Parts: sequence; C-alpha cells; structure tokens
Amino acid sequence: MVNLIPSPDQIMQILKRTGAYREGHFVYPSGKHTPHYFQMPLAFRYYDTARVLAVALSRKFRVDRDTSSQLPKVAVISPSSGGIPVAFGVREALNAEQIYWAEREEGKRMFRQYVNQGEINPCIIVDDIIRTGSAIEETVGLVKELGAQVIGCGTIVRFKTAPESIDGVEVKSLVDFESHLYDPSEDCKDCKEGVPEEHVRF
Ligand SMILES: [Zn+2]
Repeated sequence: MVNLIPSPDQIMQILKRTGAYREGHFVYPSGKHTPHYFQMPLAFRYYDTARVLAVALSRKFRVDRDTSSQLPKVAVISPSSGGIPVAFGVREALNAEQIYWAEREEGKRMFRQYVNQGEINPCIIVDDIIRTGSAIEETVGLVKELGAQVIGCGTIVRFKTAPESIDGVEVKSLVDFESHLYDPSEDCKDCKEGVPEEHVRF
C-alpha cells in the first residue's frame, strides 16, 4: 500500500542494502568506538531509495495537523549538507514553498548570506540522522534569530540518546536506533577480540 509509512525494520533493510548502515569496529573522531555506523548519503545516492525515505518522512508531517495546516507556506530546512537531499524530498512530497540549508563555516553553523529577517516561512527542520541533536538545536537558534517559527522537526534515523523533542517540538523519526559507544580500552568487545579498527570522519 502506497500510503503506509514503512516500518523501522523496512527502513533498516533499505539502509543495510544501500550500505548506509554498516556493522564493524568503528572509531569516531572523538575516540569513541562503536560496532555500527551510519553513512546516510549512501542511501540517498539512489534516487528511488531517496524518494522512498523522504516520502515516508513527509507522511509523518502530513498527518500532523498543526504542521500540514500551514502548507504550502512552509520552509523545509536542513542543518547540514547531509540533510539537503532529505529536505528536497520532503519539500517535494509536501509541496512546501521554501528550502534552506545551513553549513558550518569556521566552526559556526550559518545560512548563506542575504537571507533576511522575516523571509523564512514557518519551518520544518529535517536531517538524515540525529546523533546528539546539537545540529538541530543550533539550526533552531538560527531560524529564530531570523524571526521564523519552528513547527516541525524530523529525521530518517534518531539515536535513542538524542532528545525526543527540541524546543518543545517533537522529533519525528523513521527509525529510533539504540546506539552503543565505548571507550576503547574499557568496554569495546571488538578491541578485546582484536578486530581491526576503521576510522570514520563524522
Ligand atoms: Zn574498539
């Protein structure tokens, strides 16, 4: 049935099949170790897969009356480059009017120059993955500085350790993932078993 939102298991199957969800012995830039890693753009490199994921997320907003009642005068906003394909897909499915994305320059998250106060429609912030929630929180701050209201927030994957709502807005997600992070010497099973390490950049 076209109108159903795929189950978390079905979403995970898509992420595994496309290589976006990986199992192994990974080391984050923070030095923490993990047995699983998400490289979400690998799922968005296939147009059909990208569409399925974005349409599924868009349905979560479509059924939320507070959000859908404001369409089409809505902005879909990505906190970073990884969320841009999500933002375009969700925008298309919802027929929202605007798209913005933030970028990090010299450690600070910002929109491109010449986005003016009062120009941004009420916002839905979307990302491919929420690990800590800090990117979304910073983006909420940016949006508010420009005088816009956040009416929705969503992601394909949310780590269960990330907030369930940000600034009073519920975070909608297709998968809530139980993540495991370990200090290398203490708890990491793969270290104890001598599994070779793979360093990841994000
Ligand atoms: Zn380890």
